Amino acid sequence: ADNKETLGFQAEVKQLLQLMIHSLYSNKEIFLRELISNASDAADKLRFEAINNDALYGSDHELKIKVSFDKAARTITISDNGIGMSRDEVISHLGTIAKSGTKEFFGKLSGDQQKDAALIGQFGVGFYSGFIVADRITVETRRAGLQPTEAVRWESAGEGDYSVEAIEKTSRGTDIILHLREGEDELLSTWKLKSIITKYSDHISLPIQMAKEEWDEEKKEMVTKDEPETINQASALWARSKSDITPEQYEEFYKHVSHDFAAPLTYTHNRVEGRSEYTQLLYIPAKAPFDLWDRNKRGGLKLYVKRVFIMDDAEQLMPTYLRFVKGVIDSADLPLNVSREILQESRDVKAIREGSTKRVIGMLEELANAEEQEKKDKYATFWTEFGQVLKEGIGEDMANKDRIAKLLRFASTNADSADQVVALADYVGRMKEGQDKIYYVTADSFTAAKNSPHLEIFRKKGVEVLLLTDRVDEWMLSFLTEFEGKELVSVAKGGLDLGKLEDEAEKKEHEETENQYKELVAKMKETLGEKAKDVRVTFRLTDSPACLVADEHELSGNLLRMLKAAGQ
Ligand code: ADP
Ligand code: MG
Repeated sequence: ADNKETLGFQAEVKQLLQLMIHSLYSNKEIFLRELISNASDAADKLRFEAINNDALYGSDHELKIKVSFDKAARTITISDNGIGMSRDEVISHLGTIAKSGTKEFFGKLSGDQQKDAALIGQFGVGFYSGFIVADRITVETRRAGLQPTEAVRWESAGEGDYSVEAIEKTSRGTDIILHLREGEDELLSTWKLKSIITKYSDHISLPIQMAKEEWDEEKKEMVTKDEPETINQASALWARSKSDITPEQYEEFYKHVSHDFAAPLTYTHNRVEGRSEYTQLLYIPAKAPFDLWDRNKRGGLKLYVKRVFIMDDAEQLMPTYLRFVKGVIDSADLPLNVSREILQESRDVKAIREGSTKRVIGMLEELANAEEQEKKDKYATFWTEFGQVLKEGIGEDMANKDRIAKLLRFASTNADSADQVVALADYVGRMKEGQDKIYYVTADSFTAAKNSPHLEIFRKKGVEVLLLTDRVDEWMLSFLTEFEGKELVSVAKGGLDLGKLEDEAEKKEHEETENQYKELVAKMKETLGEKAKDVRVTFRLTDSPACLVADEHELSGNLLRMLKAAGQ
């Protein structure tokens, strides 16, 4: 056709294609999951747009996905009657990668196939995974609301470029036609495709259909019928009862909503009734995403209203410090035409956010307090991946602060290892007779914290000190001033009062020493002048000759350095 044009892929797409084909081959069946997942998303998008424009359905209201194959042509086709794509959409969706974190992702590639394969799964493989099994993909699509003559054909061999041209297409939606690579013929079988679909896509809420196959007594072979057969359960997974869902189905559903390649760490599924009625299916990933530190990134929850998809990444459904949670909330109370603005003010949403926050914290407590090693290990994984984000909750969520404080884990002088495994309750349990405070030191590295001269006296007395080295710690500590009635104090702050830990004899000795050095101290003060606020004789040090301390009401040295680094 005269309007056929050939365009080059964005550089990242080329890179992704190369990587995918080579590193995901051992997992090649996932292409079908990805394409079915896209078809299901396309149906969700159509339903959503049609809330305010029923005409988009035309005469075709029954949304579904069809999978078929052609043995002679060696093709597999995945068809949907969802939203479809216009020419512009085809070019931007199938020629570029618009995902957040794309740059970070490509920056992290190591060239080591195995490592990169794990990364790529985390990034989300998507449409391009079709090229694992196909050496050419044809997409024919017509957007809902456009005319049959306004359809588009996109085609590519998955190398440097792709073509787009106008075509005529009678039905709404998208057909993805995979021209199989040499050696992939085993996929050209009803049995094989069916088994892949039941394994990976059973949770999809739309019917996934294939042509029925039946045994023919006369011909003594399987023959393909003209009638379709639905091969999945075709109901929203979260709306099914827990006892009807297998762990594998929960896992596959997670991969569908999260675009994650790996299994989740844990999940919770509940129907909540009362002030607000909703279903929640919430997952905690096993690995942090690339853009975890982007606080502007929207959350990972999909919002549905009575099974109708409303929006992705509904950030109002979770507090920012739980932005890593993935899953679905299906509300029975919200209006279908709810917008992000309405969500912000809705009392139902507030109730959902509070309820879901409590659920997530409960899920974490269950892991953190478990006796079983498997759960303990899971909590350790969680802490390594998301602990720093959870700490934001101490300053952000006053209502749950105490529960979050119990979930915190730190390194300490007890084991003198950088592993963050000490709970505040563990610390309190090990406190010395007469000790009434929780001591900590902050620094920008574990080695610096461990070797802080401020620790000498504590080591000598056998008093445990928490070693804090995460960027958020100082900020968090300004909100966490006590735990179970015990004050948290920095060992680097002035006038450190060791309380009853200091015995009478020592006190006397200290007073004498102070007297002895009175003149020297006065001289030093005079010499330093404005440079130092005060000069004191210290009993905190055992090996080092001197150290700097911050005034009780001043910012600590570490925080000052941080603020300076941030340009303050
Ligand atoms: P993701 O699904 O994570 O967005 P994909 O690579 O799977 O990434 O798909 C890229 C984009 O292409 C989708 O976001 C969507 O806009 C578009 N797309 C893919 N498949 C379809 C389809 N069957 N119908 C409509 N749009 C589609
Ligand atoms: Mg996708």
